[in-house]
Order: sequence, then structure tokens, then C-alpha cells
Amino acid sequence: MRSVKRTAEVRIPPSIRHEIGADALAMIMKTGLMDKKETCMVTDYGTNAEMGLFHDGELYTGSAAAGPAMEGQAINYGMLAAPYAISDFSFAEDGTWNNIVLNETLKPVVGMKVNPSNGTFSSVSDMNARGITGTGVVAAVALGLESGLIEPPYIRTPDKKLHFQNGIDFGEDDLGEAGKAMGAIRAGHRTLIEEVGIDDTDVKTMYLAGASGTYVDAIKAQTVGMVPRIIEKTVQVGNTSLMMAYDLLVKDEAMDEMQRIADSIASKHIMFATSKVFEDMYVNEIGYWMEGMPFDIYNESLRTAGLRPLPPIVRPKSTQRIVSSDIPIIGDKGLRILDNVGVYLMGSFEGCIGCKKCAKECPERALEVIEGGPHGYTIRIATEHCLGTACKNCEAVCPKKVYRFSDLKISERA
Ligand code: SF4
Ligand code: SF4
Repeated sequence: MRSVKRTAEVRIPPSIRHEIGADALAMIMKTGLMDKKETCMVTDYGTNAEMGLFHDGELYTGSAAAGPAMEGQAINYGMLAAPYAISDFSFAEDGTWNNIVLNETLKPVVGMKVNPSNGTFSSVSDMNARGITGTGVVAAVALGLESGLIEPPYIRTPDKKLHFQNGIDFGEDDLGEAGKAMGAIRAGHRTLIEEVGIDDTDVKTMYLAGASGTYVDAIKAQTVGMVPRIIEKTVQVGNTSLMMAYDLLVKDEAMDEMQRIADSIASKHIMFATSKVFEDMYVNEIGYWMEGMPFDIYNESLRTAGLRPLPPIVRPKSTQRIVSSDIPIIGDKGLRILDNVGVYLMGSFEGCIGCKKCAKECPERALEVIEGGPHGYTIRIATEHCLGTACKNCEAVCPKKVYRFSDLKISERA
């Protein structure tokens, strides 16, 4: 078991400006966006979907608050891309869905075939799943839309849930959370296209970055609105933030190079929070995902707002994935995932009854309730698995409202 040394040096990468952070800069650098000869777009799919549109030598950027669903949070069985997470689905010939599960090295492998309407399965697998990633959610929604099992905001199965292997399911609340994220991303892409004043057909290539951008099926992503409706080519470039972080650690010159490029990029940032185009687009997205607004009404509403309607989907002629996993160099050059960063977060709360609801609701199985401590029970979180303050499911479910994530203290492991 290895842990991080207390004397470890921390390298903090630069950002372009306040709204365009180091992860967006990594995305721009690792895709070589500024050297492209064609109009293209890139998005790092995460809680904040950072996106760039490169056109005529100029970079236009935006950041859509997609919310946590694309990282598996706010979804009942959601989790980050990690071993034993369902990351994709495909239609099987017998009407069931193939469940695709990440193995120990984060490679997607075929799991069980499951009937999504009732959970019965027609094949077994020794790949046991324990949750579903954001990309799995995209695939579930895409297959649900195509098969008619999903008609937003409804799931047309007897118990209003889609069923996957190992008892994992996806309900209408999950669909609502996913729809908010997908809608924000589609609204963001369309806002960039509208604000720059180009046609949908002008954007030739879409680069998909981030963990979600690695594992998502680009065609399914287009079905749900996360890839522009007209595109010639998609390229999945992997987790550019992690790639950049790796460079920063192993190459002393990488920090200077990153700063030089940050200084040289004069991006035109479009603040979606104050963009009327984004507002009009997103209102329609909420209407579609949450209220079941049909697309013809959606488009009519855009016309009324002076915007162009969404065009029919044109599938890309080429879909390219240039990495096979989120962190393709695990095990290479001494790179490994620590199973212990050396500390816990711990706390004992007055009024805690030891019911363990906080532990049961933790999507990453990071939290334990152990007996003992000043108030009878102690919460202990393995920090390497915890999603942090973006999650706080544990705090939200505490029936006694005594647990405060922010009151936990760092404690060194023995
Ligand atoms: S410990 Fe709490 S904040 Fe961390 S992943 Fe679990 S539920 Fe989320
Ligand atoms: S949910 Fe609240 S009361 Fe229950 S064990 Fe956790 S902290 Fe204690």
C-alpha cells in the first residue's frame, strides 16, 4: 500500500482567465485546437461543460453549468468512471440490452444482457457492476429514446424505471437530472454557433474530452444532444486534464509551455449566464426534458425568439477514439492509482444514532460509520474515493441533520 509523502511538491497549472480554467487550457492544448484549419468544436464533459469553438483563426469559449449528472452524481446509482461501473449499453439481438462494464484497468467489457423493462437477464457475466457512469447514463437515455422506452419526462416501463445488471436501475428523477445536463450542453453548443454567427454545417469536427468524452459513444451522445446535430467527424481525445497533469509532473518545461500558451490565447469568452441566446435555448431544453415539449413546438419557440430551429440530425461520417481508456498510461512509466493517499476525513457528531444511512447513500463506498468517538459513532471517509463537496450525498441523507461534511477533520492513517 502506498501513500502520498507529506513533502510532496504540488504544481498548480495556470488558467487563461477566471472562467477558462487550467482544464479548459489543457483541452485546447492537447487537441491542438489553435492549429486547426477548419471550424471545429471541443467540449470537456463534466459538471461544468467547458467548450470552445474555433472559427476563422479565433477561439470562442463558453462554460455550461451541466450539473453533476455527467459525472454520475445526482443519479441514484451514479458513480465516477471506476472499475465495475456500467459505462455503456448496446441493443442485443434478443431485445435485451448489453451492459458494458469497466474492468479493473478501466477497459469496457461486455457484462450481462438485461431486459431494461423488467430486469430479467438472458446472459450472465462475472463482471459485477456496482453503479453507472455519466456515459452509461447517456447510453441509457439514447437507447431509451430510440426504443421508445423514454419519452421525456416519462419512462414507459411498468415501474417507470430502466433496469440494468446487478439490480442497478434508472428512474424518472434520474432522467430529469440527466436531461438538465444534456440540455445545458446542447444549449451551450448552439449558443456558441448562434453568437459566432455561423451555420450548423460550418462545424466540421467535434472533439470530445474528459472522462465522459473518453467512454461515451459519440453517436449516442449526438442522439441526446451532447454533440452538434450536424457534424462530419468526431474525435474522442481522452482525459486531457489528466494528460496535462501527467506532463506537468514529469516534464519540468511543461509548466512554462502551458503559461506561454495561456498568455498567447486571446479567447472571446461568451458568458452563458448573461447570454439571451443561452437563456432562450435552455428554457426550451427544460421544456423538452422536464415537460415533454415536442420538438416542433421547441423549434417554433426558437423562431419566435429570433433563433434558428434545430436541424435534423446528420450522423458523422467518421468517429475516431484515439485512446482506449481514461488514463491510458496506467501501469506504464511507474504510473499507478493509489489506493491510499494517506489520510481520512473523520468526525463524530452529537446526535448521530449510527443508522449508517450516510454510508449506504455514498455512491463511491468511501464512507464508514464506526463505533466509538466522543459522540458514540465516528464517520470515516477514505478521501481517495470521495467525490468531495460536489457530492455530499452523505450529508443530505442524514435523518438527524447532525452530520456536516465541512466539519470533518483530516486524520493521518496509521
Ligand atoms: S463520502 Fe459523502 S461526499 Fe464523499 S462520495 Fe460519499 S456521499 Fe459523496
Ligand atoms: S446518517 Fe446521520 S445519524 Fe445516521 S450514521 Fe450517518 S451521521 Fe449518523
